[in-house]
Amino acid sequence: MSEFTAIISGAGPAGLAAACLFALDDVKTAVIAPPSVADLRTTALMQPSLQLLKFIGVWTEELKSVSSPLMRLHLIDDTGNLVTAPTLEFSATELELEAFGWNIPLAQLIPLLHKKAEVLGVTFINDISLNAVTDENQITIKTELGNSYSAKILLAADGADSALRNSLGITVENWSFDQSALATSFAHTASHQNISTEYHKSAGPFTTVPLPGNRSSLVWMERPARIEALLKLSDAELAIEIQLETKNMLGRISNLGPRKAFPMRGQRATKFATKRCMVLGEAAHVLPPIGAQGLNLSLRDAAQAADLIISSADPGAETNLQEYDKLRRADVVPRQQMVNLLNRSLLSTMPALSLARAAGLSALANFAPLRTLAMRQGLAPGANLPFAMRG
Ligand SMILES: Cc1cc2nc3c(=O)[nH]c(=O)nc-3n(C[C@H](O)[C@H](O)[C@H](O)COP(=O)(O)OP(=O)(O)OC[C@H]3O[C@@H](n4cnc5c(N)ncnc54)[C@H](O)[C@@H]3O)c2cc1C
Repeated sequence: MSEFTAIISGAGPAGLAAACLFALDDVKTAVIAPPSVADLRTTALMQPSLQLLKFIGVWTEELKSVSSPLMRLHLIDDTGNLVTAPTLEFSATELELEAFGWNIPLAQLIPLLHKKAEVLGVTFINDISLNAVTDENQITIKTELGNSYSAKILLAADGADSALRNSLGITVENWSFDQSALATSFAHTASHQNISTEYHKSAGPFTTVPLPGNRSSLVWMERPARIEALLKLSDAELAIEIQLETKNMLGRISNLGPRKAFPMRGQRATKFATKRCMVLGEAAHVLPPIGAQGLNLSLRDAAQAADLIISSADPGAETNLQEYDKLRRADVVPRQQMVNLLNRSLLSTMPALSLARAAGLSALANFAPLRTLAMRQGLAPGANLPFAMRG
């Protein structure tokens, strides 16, 4: 007999959100993961994801106090191309929302999710999953410490290089970009007015996202050699570079936070579910940090998995796996394609592609129904939102 109904491998935000959702519905759940390392990134989570955090009970005053609402989004064409797109300004009020979402530090969110899962009765196993074997009734996970754990369903949330996904024979498609992203934060003298600004530059987007007070986080996509050089600068030198790139729009830049670089790549599992296993988060899909899609998609994976698992007599049944694969693929694939297209149109030296990008953004600037559709789609898919995200 299976010891657990569900086992989740990985204690990143995707795996922990799934654990909380299962435990809220009394699904006997275990999480297998090594001790977590503080993630210093912040993530812009859109309204449906915030709804999920509220549903779980971790959208606390404590978390709000270190996060900041995103009330407006500006897209500035800073490519220096002959034909440039007009500056696009989106306001949450156009969708009758107070904010599109909030910029939330993972260093605070992840421990809150972990604590909540523990309070809800999730069993935490401090170990590393090695592989999984499926039979008719259950799936068994073998770990580095030599233990085996079985469950009706496995959720592989063990990151982009997922050992369990690989051990179950799920291959990935991947593609790379000649870019890295530098993530950091900084203080500034002018107010950000709760505006997140994406400067479209010829080596990729440079995005500032509001934090509480006069502080913003930064994701700066650039050619890898330039990122290497930026990493070596002193704080004062890097502040000057940021000052130049932001064209003084945020005033004087100072007081930089820790910095870290990430290679830019895209990846997608060829199957999102098979053999009593659902794949979620970066184990299923990786995309460059453009338009704040990554973790928002991962939380939708978790909420969709919960809907299917909670309402089923056998959570690992083939019908559940097929439904998960179908629903998540319909959400993930077009978003990855959009992000790739926008990113490649910036990197391309082909005038036709730059022109097409400028024309597309002009249409968004000038045609109200298209703007509204784009804003709504940016937040989440229009239909089929999982239960915990509906509000
Ligand atoms: C610079 C940058 C900025 C970003 N900004 C945004 C944003 O604004 N909005 C947004 O929505 N997304 C954003 N993202 C994407 C987002 O950060 C990621 O999608 C998210 O953090 C991934 O979470 P995850 O739980 O899937 O994976 P991870 O955080 O990678 O977690 C994987 C977990 O699995 C564990 N693990 C690994 N191997 C094993 C094993 N063998 N056995 C057991 N456990 C294992 C790890 O220890 C970890 O706990 C950004 C990404 C980058 C790079």
